[in-house]
Amino acid sequence: MSRRTFLKFCSAMAGVLALPAAFGPRIATALQAAPPMRLVWLHGQACGGDTAAFLRSPSPTASELFVRLLSVDYQEMLMASSGANATRAMAASGGNGPDYLAVIEGSVPRGANGMYCLVGGRPFADVVRDVSAGAVATIAVGSCAVDGGAPRARNGVTGAVGVEDLHPASPLVNLPGCPVNVHNLVATIVHYLTFKELPPMGAAHRPLFAYGGLVHNQCERRAHFEFGEFATEWGDAGAQQGWCLYKLGCKGPEVFANCPTQRYAEGTSWAVESGHGCIGCTMPAFWNTMLPAYRRLPSPLPFASTITVDQVGGALVGGVAGLAGVHAVASYGRARLSRQGKTMSVETEPADEAPAPLPDDEEAPSPAGDPPGATEATAATAQVMTDAVPEPILPLEEVPLPEPESEAAPGVAALEALVQPEPERQVEAGDSIDEERADQ
Ligand code: SF4
Repeated sequence: MSRRTFLKFCSAMAGVLALPAAFGPRIATALQAAPPMRLVWLHGQACGGDTAAFLRSPSPTASELFVRLLSVDYQEMLMASSGANATRAMAASGGNGPDYLAVIEGSVPRGANGMYCLVGGRPFADVVRDVSAGAVATIAVGSCAVDGGAPRARNGVTGAVGVEDLHPASPLVNLPGCPVNVHNLVATIVHYLTFKELPPMGAAHRPLFAYGGLVHNQCERRAHFEFGEFATEWGDAGAQQGWCLYKLGCKGPEVFANCPTQRYAEGTSWAVESGHGCIGCTMPAFWNTMLPAYRRLPSPLPFASTITVDQVGGALVGGVAGLAGVHAVASYGRARLSRQGKTMSVETEPADEAPAPLPDDEEAPSPAGDPPGATEATAATAQVMTDAVPEPILPLEEVPLPEPESEAAPGVAALEALVQPEPERQVEAGDSIDEERADQ
């Protein structure tokens, strides 16, 4: 491995571990000073896909990792020896001190006293316990080793379990996936060599740098999801244009993994980019919980198997919206009734009704109809409430006209005086017409 390739690898590891780029030189310094990390890699019930993924390490390649970073003491698919020689090699690895990592691939059969999988004539479960006990950490690679995987799926007959069910003596790291992503495995080892500790993990012993984010949030088709652009059939126009595969069963919104950023097959692609929905292979017991691969998740209700999670979610949202609407209508009606009740209590006040005769020692009710014995404060409160009642809106013809003014305004009186006719003058005998004209 050239120095340039080595430095690029260290920077890439900082990225995989979600560390700032400034950690690249620190990782390089630590790896140069550390001796190669010894691995004892065991195979249980598995297809060998995790080893194949490891051999597909793009840069550096697996061979470069073996020379520079790792010392693989025992790996049945890669080692030259077999039989008794291989068993001796495994025993020798344990005798060299607790400075190796136990890497477990495949599930552990517990049925038939472990006879479904023997290594060197011993049940695989016993071999895993022994190797894990002397390791600095146990790394379960692939979904079979994490929780039993395919051998544990429905109708599994071997009683398969994951490494966690064996309660290994050393700290456990789970790297699920079918297969494991080699970047996550190498980055876990690099973290240990650099910081002398395992990376931060969640409750299921899964490193957060790899399984802390949703596939859906990192997917390159996410924009199509937001715009409602979905492929609805394999090979349709939407599929050809790279639209979202949600309606074809993609489980990305429910799955935690970093596949969209780390990819597979030498970094070439990953499931969704190649046109296939995510099947959720990093989730617990995904063969039982995430399939069928081409439909949305099946019903969470055991009594209604045809109802999907989407339908249940839609029904819940609709129910909540309906309840909110009913509450709003009820609140509005209650407010209206309350207002009408106040108005009616004022309008139906028996104003003209003669008060019933009272005993002599009882106090007469107030004109506002206060109950006998009401205090001044009560009367004042009643008055405030009465004042707060809005006056009813009358039709235009019933609106009372203002009373005519009792006294004419001074300006009007002066005008009226001006237009008052002159009192008629009686014409008397002897008055001449000329005098009359002169008077006028
Ligand atoms: Fe999410 Fe899957 Fe659609 Fe990608 S293809 S946006 S992961 S639903």
